[in-house]
Amino acid sequence: MTGSTSIPSIAEDTIVAVATPPGRGGIGIVRLSGPDSRRLLSAHLQLRSPLLPGRARYCAIVDGGARLDEGVVTYFAEPNSYTGEDVLEVAAHGSPVILDLLVRRALEAGARLARPGEFTERAFLHGRIDLTQAEAVRDLIAAETLYQVRVAAEQLDGALSRRVAPVKEQLIALVTLLEAGIDFAEDDIDVTPDAEIARQLDALDAALEPIAASFREGRLVHNGLTMAIVGRPNAGKSSLFNRLVERERAIVTATPGTTRDLVTERISLGGIPVELADTAGLRETRDEAESHGIARTESAMADADLVLLLLDAAATVDAEGALRLPEEDARLLASLEGRSPLVVLNKIDLARPARSNRVTEELAQVSALTGEGVPELRERLLERVRGSANDAEGGMLTSLRHYEALQGCAQAMTRARGGLVQQVPHEMLLLDLYAALQELDQLTGATTADDILNRIFSSFCIGK
Ligand code: GDP
Repeated sequence: MTGSTSIPSIAEDTIVAVATPPGRGGIGIVRLSGPDSRRLLSAHLQLRSPLLPGRARYCAIVDGGARLDEGVVTYFAEPNSYTGEDVLEVAAHGSPVILDLLVRRALEAGARLARPGEFTERAFLHGRIDLTQAEAVRDLIAAETLYQVRVAAEQLDGALSRRVAPVKEQLIALVTLLEAGIDFAEDDIDVTPDAEIARQLDALDAALEPIAASFREGRLVHNGLTMAIVGRPNAGKSSLFNRLVERERAIVTATPGTTRDLVTERISLGGIPVELADTAGLRETRDEAESHGIARTESAMADADLVLLLLDAAATVDAEGALRLPEEDARLLASLEGRSPLVVLNKIDLARPARSNRVTEELAQVSALTGEGVPELRERLLERVRGSANDAEGGMLTSLRHYEALQGCAQAMTRARGGLVQQVPHEMLLLDLYAALQELDQLTGATTADDILNRIFSSFCIGK
């Protein structure tokens, strides 16, 4: 039905790579996959007992008659291995010299250096995992937060594919129905009524919709988002920035400022990586032409997924507890129209509390100095970040590639729907339905063009 001609043929050669990160460590692993995995290093691995599938074996590592190290060899026989091929893993001490020597000896004996992601690519080509699972391996390794790990692990377990599978089955059932109608049209078998086709198309749409919607959270989990803290000089932007960053510093590696104008740092908000931008440029250019600072703030705001506008309570809350925005803040707020900024009143330790009304209820009130209100602010931020998207079902779409495949599928079905209204022949409807099916197959990799596969696997690290 849908050809799989685009899948590259499986290589017959044996690949080798160091599977552990570059540098020195307690243990380093050299991995081989392919038909000659067991043989290529045999002259350098002195075993006390023969290799058995799935068993670890102590070995001495020798070269040129000299004993260089000792280690553990594990052999996995095809098809019960990560790649689906014969795999050998040599765990030696984590010396780059020894690991490189082993790789060199394997290459001299006929192995080929693995490309990035080639072990996982082979697992995919052998049908051990589908494309979404292969991508999950990469995401798992790249994860910065535990939540990202959980989502990737779910996907690796096949959650996304399982979620899409019933949709594909429904689509195939409809295709089969239409095909049968065409084949037997001359034999006076009832052609499926249009109302029934419409009903099935609606059901497909309804099934696709929540999966496509899961991209809202999936995208956040995968890519994270950026948040800018804006406000007048001295509002306490840097202080709040540091407050938000401090507790999370241990969770996510801090990245130093990446642009001249902004200090940015990654924090984890409920497991979603958030790149926090402090518009320090504004503070630094306090004495320069005001337009400079405004321009920088504006560009930070334009790039941000979420804007936090910080007000200085001392300058905002009057003696009666009423809010009076200084002109500059009012202008900033006006320029944020449509961006739904989170407005935060800072320095509540200095000011009398803002009188409670509809406006102040919307405000988060904090003291960056004492830390008061900061945990609540975190909660508010998290609500904003995740919005209503809290996909409990599992198997969310995490990449644009997934999303585009689903969109393509939905569009093809919309075309079929339009065709149905115009009473086009069922042969024409089938073309659209096959196109929809092909989009779903691209998601799992059943039919995915080579260049896309290359792009996916080349984003892996070596040895995976
Ligand atoms: P920025 O220019 O907006 O980045 O403001 P800073 O973070 O540099 O803060 C300006 C001044 O306000 C500093 O002296 C801070 O110590 C002080 N400050 C910041 N937040 C608070 C707060 O919540 N309460 C009080 N009392 N002072 C604060």
